[in-house]
Amino acid sequence: MPAKHTPKKKLLPLPAPPDRRRFRQRLLTWYRRHGRDLPWRKTNDPYHILVSEIMLQQTQVDRVLPKYAEWLEKYPSLEALAPAPEKEGAQTWYPLGYNIRPRRLQTIAREAVSRYGGRVPSEEETLLSFKGIGAYMAGAIRSFAFHERAAILDTNVARVLFRVFVGKGDRKSHAMTRHLWRVSETLVPSRQVFDFNQALMDFGAMVCVARDPKCLVCPMAKSCRAFPFNPEYETRRTKVLRHVK
Ligand code: SF4
Repeated sequence: MPAKHTPKKKLLPLPAPPDRRRFRQRLLTWYRRHGRDLPWRKTNDPYHILVSEIMLQQTQVDRVLPKYAEWLEKYPSLEALAPAPEKEGAQTWYPLGYNIRPRRLQTIAREAVSRYGGRVPSEEETLLSFKGIGAYMAGAIRSFAFHERAAILDTNVARVLFRVFVGKGDRKSHAMTRHLWRVSETLVPSRQVFDFNQALMDFGAMVCVARDPKCLVCPMAKSCRAFPFNPEYETRRTKVLRHVK
């Protein structure tokens, strides 16, 4: 009896080159007009970017802003943070919450000081070898601090890419997460990678938000796969599309 073969699942298609170009162009145009002015966008210091990224995990930007400044004043470098007592770090972190984060930051600082002379490395593999640095964080550090062509995917970015390029299915499944990583990697441009990834994050935080996305003013509406299926907007779609170039 011939062995049974489990049919391989087909991979979802990646955005075609014209769709990628259109998405990049619309996103960057939107970002130039509406992007937020944030202090960690004015630095290339990998440590500062690391601090901002860890603070922003599950925390709103307006709560992070004062703490980011205070933290960097107290611990201006990895060398300054590494020897600080953990209790002191936790006190400085207060009241941001989710208190494993200052410990994680200190662990990274100690490792960077002991193994890399107090600098944050830029190589993906090395970054991923740090406890507390995952794929998103590595992509953020590489693209924001070193301007390397590196993709990012956090909850906001996954939501945007899923809605625009997929539209249906289980967004949180492992297979979909893998697909969305591939989409993000396909989209990230070789130039303007800093702006592109920052724009993705702003877009997910300001327009394509989890609840009540602002589809009626969204520059992606015309090609967004989630938009036509959204019954709330269906009736207004024709009217809206006339205004979306
Ligand atoms: S049209 Fe709506 S769902 Fe689609 S990207 Fe824009 S805000 Fe998100």
